[in-house]
Order: sequence, then structure tokens, then C-alpha cells
Amino acid sequence: MWRELWSRALLTCAIGTCSILGDFGLKYGKSNSARAMFDNATHATVGGLTWTLIVVLSRKSIARNLNSIFSCFLLASFIDLDHFVAARSWHLHDATHLQKRPFLHCTTIPIMLWILLISLSNTFHSPVLEQTSWVILAAFLSHHIRDGTRRGLWFYPFGSTRPIPYYLYVSLCMTLPYILYWLMSLHTFASKNNDEIILIDI
Ligand SMILES: [Zn+2]
Repeated sequence: MWRELWSRALLTCAIGTCSILGDFGLKYGKSNSARAMFDNATHATVGGLTWTLIVVLSRKSIARNLNSIFSCFLLASFIDLDHFVAARSWHLHDATHLQKRPFLHCTTIPIMLWILLISLSNTFHSPVLEQTSWVILAAFLSHHIRDGTRRGLWFYPFGSTRPIPYYLYVSLCMTLPYILYWLMSLHTFASKNNDEIILIDI
């Protein structure tokens, strides 16, 4: 019980601390490439920590879920590759001086992807697809919230929000795993209920 609470508190604080340290690196980094690398490493770490906390909240073993933790870590980092795709160049200067926000930074995309994957997982009763849909959502949202403190959240075709105030952004990063875990438990509960209805029908 205490061990569980302690690890939850530790991971929640780690997400906040890592976000703040990452922002210091971004602000005071000596070169453009150092700043970009520091920022990307922060995205990856916050993504990995977000899924680790979800694993802990789900009372599952971290050791048995290293694959999904690592997937969330990598995906939260890879989202920034769209800067290079949009710039059609591998030069950091081109990638960081775009006129428009690159496509993977549109929050509508992970939401649509999540709806698609969660519907497919329901149709095919696939726990793997279900978990993948939540990992993708966690990686994208943790990345977009971090970027959102500078540029807001972009919901194409509706437009963008204003930049998220700094302390709200840190709090959102820290509460995101709890919100996602709550949504996940609602979904699991709903599918269990559906199964019961199907069983009664049969
Ligand atoms: Zn980004």
C-alpha cells in the first residue's frame, strides 16, 4: 500500500521535475542543436514516465510492461521527426524554422487515431490494439501539452488554443496519467458490461 503510494508520488514528481528541467535546458542551451536534443530527450522521458505511472496505477508490473513503456518513450520523441518531413530537409535550422506547425503536432490526429484503434479493438476483441491506442494517446498528449505552453494546442479544423499557462502545463503533464488511467478504467468497465449483455443474449 505505502510502496504503491510512494511510487505514484515519486513518478508524478519526476514528470513535473523533468518537464521543468527540460524547459531550463531549452532556454539556456548553448547551441541550437543542444537545445533541440535536450527538448527531445525531455519529450521522450516525460512520455516514458507517463506510461510508467499508468502501469503503476493499473497495479501491473513495470518489468513486464517495459515494451509499452519504451514504445511510449520512443513515440513521444519521434513525433518531432515531422519537423524534418515538413521542412523536406535533414538540417536542424530548416526543421526549426517552419512557417506552419508540422502535421503530427495537430492534436486532432491522435484523437482520431485513438477512436479508430479503440473501435477496432472493440470489434476484434484485441487487448493489444486497445493497449496500443492508449500508448499512442499518452505519447502524443504528453508531447502536445509540453509544446502547448509555447504554442497552444492545435485542433484542426477548429483552430488552436492560446499557449497553456506555465504552471497549468506542468500540472497537466503530472495529472495526464491519472486522467488517462481513469478513462481506461471507464472503457474497460464499459466493455465488461457489454460482454455481460452479450452473454445474457446468448
Ligand atoms: Zn514537438
